[in-house]
Amino acid sequence: MNIKDNLNKLREELPDNVELIAISKTFPPEDIMQAYEAGQRVFGESRQQELTPKYEALPKDIEWHMVGHLQRNKVRFLAPFVKLIHSVNSARLLRRIDREAKRNERVIDVLMQVLIADEKKKNGWSREELLKFIEGGEHKKLENIRIRGVMGMATFTDDQEQVMGEYRALKSIFDELREEYFDEEFDTISMGMTGDYKIAIECGSNMVRIGSKIFGGRE
Ligand SMILES: *Cc1c(COP(=O)(O)O)cnc(C)c1O
Repeated sequence: MNIKDNLNKLREELPDNVELIAISKTFPPEDIMQAYEAGQRVFGESRQQELTPKYEALPKDIEWHMVGHLQRNKVRFLAPFVKLIHSVNSARLLRRIDREAKRNERVIDVLMQVLIADEKKKNGWSREELLKFIEGGEHKKLENIRIRGVMGMATFTDDQEQVMGEYRALKSIFDELREEYFDEEFDTISMGMTGDYKIAIECGSNMVRIGSKIFGGRE
């Protein structure tokens, strides 16, 4: 199987309301171009240092998403072009994105990353922290960001019940926020990777971030 076949097979499987973000981290521009030639236009990376050169080298109609941990001092390198930042895990990072977006005369779409896994190395807001921050209303004064929804990563485990419980929890946080504090613009639940996207979709995901199933295994 090649990248194009993998992609087409995956597309057949995904419901129409689920957006596919092709996660191209560690794969070279030639691999990304194979997916591009098969019609894929939305790609995600997890490191700024890798994302910026790929943005520069590849066609400008690609939409780039940042899905990995983002340090505040790296935001300025992404602000001119990034389409969606999935990994906002603090108020300080959100303020920095707003500031850098303003400098670039842009509005940047973001997702709030919620910690749903029981793994210490993963990060994000707890449900309580996130509700408290949104309730505080500061985000409404940040005119150059638009909070579009939430993102979460499940625990890396074979226990499907556990993964399902975590994804259901994220869906319920999304529903709660949308109901209480946001309008239709808050419409994105980014959950699901190669190993668990089917469960994520069952639990209400409408954006999946898939790498290995398209490009093959990583080192
Ligand atoms: C690498 C990565 C993915 C994709 O992982 P696969 O298992 O290769 O599909 C999704 N989300 C994030 C945040 C990642 O870092």
